[in-house]
Amino acid sequence: MFLEVRDAKKAYGQGDIKVQVLNGVNFNLEEKKICTILGPSGSGKSTILNVIGGLESIDSGDVTVDGITTSSLNSKDLAFYRRDKLGFIFQFYNLVPNLTVKENIEVCEYLTKTPLDIEELLKTLGLCEHQDKFPRQLSGGQQQRTAIARALIKNPKLLLCDEPTGALDYKTSKEILELLESVNRKYGTTMIIVTHNDAIKYMSHKVVKVRDGIIEDEYENEAIMEAKDITW
Ligand code: ADP
Ligand code: MG
Repeated sequence: MFLEVRDAKKAYGQGDIKVQVLNGVNFNLEEKKICTILGPSGSGKSTILNVIGGLESIDSGDVTVDGITTSSLNSKDLAFYRRDKLGFIFQFYNLVPNLTVKENIEVCEYLTKTPLDIEELLKTLGLCEHQDKFPRQLSGGQQQRTAIARALIKNPKLLLCDEPTGALDYKTSKEILELLESVNRKYGTTMIIVTHNDAIKYMSHKVVKVRDGIIEDEYENEAIMEAKDITW
């Protein structure tokens, strides 16, 4: 199995203010699949993503990604794991404001010996004409496309997306979803998408519903819809 989370438990704080955020999360994902994680605010979705991404530790349980058990790594090896295996996309893009589109992507290009071809990636993401602009000169959708390019330039095996369309209008959200779908098909990137948008489940191979720090429902779609055909 490409990704396995076994009985992951995590609390924030201690004593009276201790909040149990993950209550024994179990979940598997095969390589090259798209998985959507749904659930109410505060249910633990981002925490699950951050645990898989090696940004947060767990109190007990195991997380294994592509043969690496992250829960047993020291901080240096955890940094290598994030560098070598992962791309991250967030709701608010997190671009470096004083670097151009191309420079934002190049920052991550240098992290690997085997980057994707930057010109091809700029073309795939429709960024060629914007490559010399700064983030403030771009629309939200263009900024998110830059963030996706930055995450993908390392050709990561796993792309972790936390509310990737959360700040975007309908039309731009659809564009971003179509882009993620084409990236999944072109590069075989495994993706986990945390979202409030219920419709994204229709373009996902696997759907996971989280409530109060546990997975209350999960299923695999036998047939998935194309991103261009989903509506909400
Ligand atoms: P979701 O992404 O589903 O909205 P989160 O995973 O962000 O949920 O948060 C789950 C719970 O953990 C919430 O109750 C939140 O307040 C709490 N939480 C998240 N991060 C921290 C933190 N760094 N310190 C304390 N509590 C946190
Ligand atoms: Mg969240």
